Amino acid sequence: MSRVTLPTAAGGANHRRVRYVRSIDELAHIPEAERGQLRRVAETYVFRANDYYLELIDWNDPDDPIKQLIIPRVEELSDWGKLDASNEARYTVAQGVQHKYPDTVLLLCNEVCGAYCRYCFRKRLFMDDNDEVTKDVSEGIRYIAAHPEVNNVLLTGGDPLLMSTRRLREIIEALAGIEHVRIIRIGSKMPAFDPFRILHDAELRDLLGRHSSPRQRIYLMAHFDHPRELTDAAVEGLDAYIRLGVICVNQCPLIRGVNDDPEVLGELYRRLSWIGCPPYYLFQGRPTAGNEPYEVPIVRGWDIFREALRHGSGLARRARYCMSHETGKVEISGVDEQYIYLRYHRARDPRLRGRLMLYHRDDNASWLDGLRPAEDTAGLPFGADSLLDVTSGPE
Ligand code: SF4
Repeated sequence: MSRVTLPTAAGGANHRRVRYVRSIDELAHIPEAERGQLRRVAETYVFRANDYYLELIDWNDPDDPIKQLIIPRVEELSDWGKLDASNEARYTVAQGVQHKYPDTVLLLCNEVCGAYCRYCFRKRLFMDDNDEVTKDVSEGIRYIAAHPEVNNVLLTGGDPLLMSTRRLREIIEALAGIEHVRIIRIGSKMPAFDPFRILHDAELRDLLGRHSSPRQRIYLMAHFDHPRELTDAAVEGLDAYIRLGVICVNQCPLIRGVNDDPEVLGELYRRLSWIGCPPYYLFQGRPTAGNEPYEVPIVRGWDIFREALRHGSGLARRARYCMSHETGKVEISGVDEQYIYLRYHRARDPRLRGRLMLYHRDDNASWLDGLRPAEDTAGLPFGADSLLDVTSGPE
């Protein structure tokens, strides 16, 4: 078991406790008239932040990316998108349990996050009448134990690292007792919102260090969206996970006003790969209600992604640009003057796995459902047959 020794100087960065901010009225940098409008937005899509994260905002810059990420915008109230844009309800097999791909189960075990990202695709979970999350994961544990094909469990929500260490221990120890579970993934933005979570909790470090082993590995699916989130404390926090034997990777969406700039995304990727938390997925924003101001069209997204990858090392270039569509994970593989080239990276339907797909280029479209399939593939470098099934591996 690896241990992380951390400085313990009282009052040092490692001992900071974040203070949560739940009311727009606490945002003194925003003029009162504007706050009145934002209060209306927060009644629909809840607001939550903390003092550490708010300190990253440059309030003199009206377009500050950290501000765009965390502070509500009036445009969120436009009538656009659905609350469950990729129909997660369809794959819900019990309360808080989603099973879409054979080897992977999601446990939605917490309905709160360290702060609320304005572009969140699961914002429905934070609404009062939602009951998709369960704190009691015993049914999920029984389900996983009864399905030997499940070797990979993702703890998600909400943010699992906002749960108490005691509850995390119960879940991780229950999963550790299931022989066929080989990977436990923790999807979390706490390393960005509150890096002190790991730095000040020796019990949590002990738990992760004990349970991340060659028999069953813990992965942190970190969520950094912008290089400015990589503060000294955040880097120290990531280093703590790595030293515990937790494998760290990063996944984030492409968000208008936050990281839709190849320089910004490239820098994020470079720095993450240097730290040891290389990029894994870049997600196309789902057409989720409230998210219109954060959307980036697919074609523009492709240009940003491709340009961002140009400057990174090989490790920074392993990221894939995907849409988490109801039918599967659809990778955006290329764009030319006429077409958009897509491929099922993962698919619920075995007949779709690995399938290449060709769509007419549409510079305004931001989701698969808005694209028009190309009917005539004659004269293309690959024939229609090769569009149907290519590189599929076992799911
Ligand atoms: S941390 Fe994740 S689940 Fe929580 S608000 Fe942000 S995107 Fe949504």
